[in-house]
Amino acid sequence: MSLLEAAPRTLLTAPPATPLATPLATPLDDARSQLASAINVLGYGAGLQSLLSTPRREMTVAVPLRRDDGSTSLFTGYRVQHNLSRGPAKGGLRYSPGVTLDEVRALAMWMTWKCALIDVPFGGAKGGVTIDPRQFSQAELERVTRRYTSEILPIIGPEKDIPAPDMGTDERTMAWIMDTYSVNVGYTVPGIVTGKPISLGGSHGRASATSRGVTHIALAALRHRGISQHGATAAVQGFGKVGHDAAVFLTDAGIRVVAVSDQYGAVYNRNGLDFTRLSAWVAATGRVVGYDGAEPLDGDALLELPVDLLVPAAVEGVLHEGNAARVSARIIVEGANGPTSPAADRIFAENGQLVVPDILANAGGVLVSYFEWVQGNQAYWWNADEVEHKLEERMLGAWQQVVEYAAARDLSLRAAATVLAVERVAEAHLLRGLYP
Ligand code: NAD
Repeated sequence: MSLLEAAPRTLLTAPPATPLATPLATPLDDARSQLASAINVLGYGAGLQSLLSTPRREMTVAVPLRRDDGSTSLFTGYRVQHNLSRGPAKGGLRYSPGVTLDEVRALAMWMTWKCALIDVPFGGAKGGVTIDPRQFSQAELERVTRRYTSEILPIIGPEKDIPAPDMGTDERTMAWIMDTYSVNVGYTVPGIVTGKPISLGGSHGRASATSRGVTHIALAALRHRGISQHGATAAVQGFGKVGHDAAVFLTDAGIRVVAVSDQYGAVYNRNGLDFTRLSAWVAATGRVVGYDGAEPLDGDALLELPVDLLVPAAVEGVLHEGNAARVSARIIVEGANGPTSPAADRIFAENGQLVVPDILANAGGVLVSYFEWVQGNQAYWWNADEVEHKLEERMLGAWQQVVEYAAARDLSLRAAATVLAVERVAEAHLLRGLYP
């Protein structure tokens, strides 16, 4: 009897499943929609659009892990290089159970625009492994990192593709990648990663660079809207590498940060949070929930608080058609990559709210990664003040350029930033020509 004959009758005769209602847009849909708008403004043809919306190279690998208890777990790893026209690929490595190839593609595309906008000589890339780092020991995370690095070794290198930290990874992860790469090629290659520990050739100011940049841009946006930073209120979603330091720097600048959240929930204090105490609580418990200096708050409700400034600094897609009309912050500064959907962008524009896009607002991280790469290539290190001074100058320069471009062409800041970036990438591509 054939397999077909053996199949249950219902399988052969059942009507096709009713298609689901319109599926929710993914980060890749959002990224492609933003690119399409920019291409439309620039008047480029369909050929260039398909080239710029498609990654140049992508790799999917199996990442087996021998657990501490002797059992084996299997994860999937990705590395996507979206564009290489302006230089080696550059982008973070994310450890999160929800990582998908499409998410990594979107993040790699945003990296291309970010590097072009901030004018560093890199293309865009991103990597991911489908692991929840909180569930594994340091020894297990080291083995996963070394195995993933070995698998993607053929496509990374200081002149090819340079990883950096992102969600769920940190400077220790970068040290393991550097060591694995160096052992495989036979000599020490500090330039294979950025975001390394300072003792291995990392840069002063890299760990807090994204948050510093977010703060410079947030303060510029407040000035732009005529809001005094002293006494302005803010809420920050995400209390990791970006959100934590952004909340502290905003507080140092005189802003009253009334709420922060992490994946477990949020906390609120109308008088402003005390970050010395809250940070100690998070260091001890791993979460903001339960901190006794604030009231508990639903994580989603944080996004709708009546504050001057909202800084989403966690994951993609949190501001969407379903909640955008209830968001009342006057300014939204995207610490995270891709937190706002195109539909939410339209609602914010109609309501007169200012959105500072990720490719500008959180570019401080890749900017200081570039400084780290330059310092490493020259084997000459800058002090913390030099890094901070150059970071502020470049971030505010990019802000000014985007604001002027947007005003001159009546575009949103996101459209202006994307158009500027896409134009630079397209110019490099056209000058180099198509091989063969
Ligand atoms: P991280 O892993 O250090 O921290 C992530 C934080 O977000 C954690 O506090 C986590 O609990 C929280 N979180 C996760 N899901 C959440 C949810 N649904 N609601 C509320 N909080 C949630 O990661 P990170 O490096 O701070 O990155 C955060 C964002 O910033 C990501 O979008 C990342 O791509 C982007 N980014 C990071 C850098 C960098 O240098 N690390 C640079 C540019 C952009």
